[in-house]
This record gives sequence, structure tokens and C-alpha cells, in this order.
Amino acid sequence: MQEINIENITTDKISLPLLQRKNIALSVLRLDKIHPVISGNKWFKLSHYIADAITQNKKTIVTFGGAWSNHIIATAAACAMYNLACIGLIRGEEATTLSPTLVQAKQMGMQLIFLSRDDYKEKKIPSEIFHTDYYLINEGGYGRKGAAGAAEILKTFDTTSYTHICCAAGTGTMAAGLLNSLLPHQTLLVFSVLKNYLTMDTSIKEISDNTLKSMTINHAYHFRGYAKHKPELLQFMNDFYLQTSIPTDFIYTGKLCYAVTDLIEKDNFPANSNVLVIHSGGLQGNASLSKGTLIF
Ligand SMILES: *Cc1c(COP(=O)(O)O)cnc(C)c1O
Repeated sequence: MQEINIENITTDKISLPLLQRKNIALSVLRLDKIHPVISGNKWFKLSHYIADAITQNKKTIVTFGGAWSNHIIATAAACAMYNLACIGLIRGEEATTLSPTLVQAKQMGMQLIFLSRDDYKEKKIPSEIFHTDYYLINEGGYGRKGAAGAAEILKTFDTTSYTHICCAAGTGTMAAGLLNSLLPHQTLLVFSVLKNYLTMDTSIKEISDNTLKSMTINHAYHFRGYAKHKPELLQFMNDFYLQTSIPTDFIYTGKLCYAVTDLIEKDNFPANSNVLVIHSGGLQGNASLSKGTLIF
């Protein structure tokens, strides 16, 4: 399997007429470039859990996710890399044809166990593995170790010149990590991809070392909810790709880039801001869209 390559990360300075007009600098941190399948932020979020499992001499990782989950596929890949066994507890009954995500996770050695939606909601560990010695990672890697791993995202390069850091959030684990590494003059803007997950603020603060720094959570750009989309989002993603050559995913980074450019248009950023957008990967999820929807 192709190796994870942290050296591939770049910060791409974007040029758009909008930015010139508003006198704002915008760069995209390309975590999507570290691996074609394992989304950037998932790799960072997993790294401390994997290290902990190895230290504890655990041989099997167990985690939760849906049929299109970036976290599931990243966990499968990380376990394959470190010779750990892994079990994915998957939301919902087994479909007659597996999603490409689950096919790939299986190919990388992940054992799949399907849970009913009720059992999944309760995060019920199935009886066949209940008494085995496994290392459990929360859905989406949520937790302090996930945040600590994500904190390294902003430590790989000098971020001093940026005034705003923008990211998409599902569980908020990456945001908690970014908050850990935020500098005093910076603001973290978090864009929730979930509809009305209004306690995300608390979830983030619970696992971050740093509750004093400046963070705002925006709930206005979920496009009807998790993994939902609207024509204007897909149109935006195609336009953004044409203008910047940067592919985005419709679940996280497309919504994020839409939101940031929209807020720049609406004068939410002061002139002379230097904005860094975190491209957290997730491009494999676009395979769930019908062919031809996206031009990349
Ligand atoms: C999982 C994911 C996120 C959200 O990360 P959280 O830590 O759960 O908030 C953002 N972007 C991409 C591409 C993801 O796969």
C-alpha cells in the first residue's frame, strides 16, 4: 500500500477576484495530499491512539463508523501499516453490495461487523468480541488523544502569519487539536457539517487543553445536514476546482470552502486578514455521488 507522506503537505495560496477585491489572503493547507485514500485529518487523529495501543501491547483495534466513513478506511489503513488487527463496527444492516469504502477497508484487512441502527446508537460492543482484548477508538477518533494528534497539524510549519484558521467539523476532534496549537493572535473558525449540533462547542472544549483561545462555531453551512448536499454546493465545488485546481469533498471541505468564501463576500473578515483553510481530505467520499456530478 502507498505510504503516508507528510512531506507532501503544501500550503497553496489561492488567487480569486473576490480576494483581491476584499484585500484578503487565503491559503489552503493540503492535508489531502498525504495519501489518496486516508484523509489527512484522520491520519493525524489516529496517530496517538495507534501509538497508545502499541504501547499497551494490544493486538486488535475496534472502532465505529458508517458505510462511507473516512475514519473507518483510515483506521483500516493505519492498522495494516502497523500490523494490528482491526474490527469495524458498521452502522446499519449489511447491504447486498458493499460501499467502495467498506470494500477497500476489507481489502486492507478490516473485519466488518454490522450493527442495527439502535445498537449503533448505543455504541453496543457485539457479544462475539465483548470478552476479547481490544483497543477501542471512538467514532471519528473523538477524544483527547485524537485532539493531541490533530494538534500536530499546525506544528508541521510556521503559522505565525495567519490571522484566522478555518476548519470543518463533525465530532470536533480536529478543531480541539487546532485549538491546542492556536497562537494568541489567531482565531479559529469552526464550520459544523451537522445540522443543529449545538453542543459542539462543549464537545470541543472537553477534549482540548486550551479553552481560553478565540474560537467561533458556525452552524449555518451544513447544507441540510451531514452528508446532505444542494445543487449550489456541487456547483461551487466544480467552480472552485476550475479556479484553484483544488478538489474538495461534498461532506466537509466543499462546505468549508463555500462558507469561507461566502463570509469573505459578506465582509465577515477584516481587510488584510490572512486566512488559512484546512483541507482535511475526505475525497474518497465523493464516490457516493453519481458519476459526472463533479468534474474532478
Ligand atoms: C472526519 C473529517 C472531518 C471532521 O473531523 P472531526 O474531527 O470529526 O471534527 C473534517 N474533514 C474531513 C475530510 C473528515 O474526513
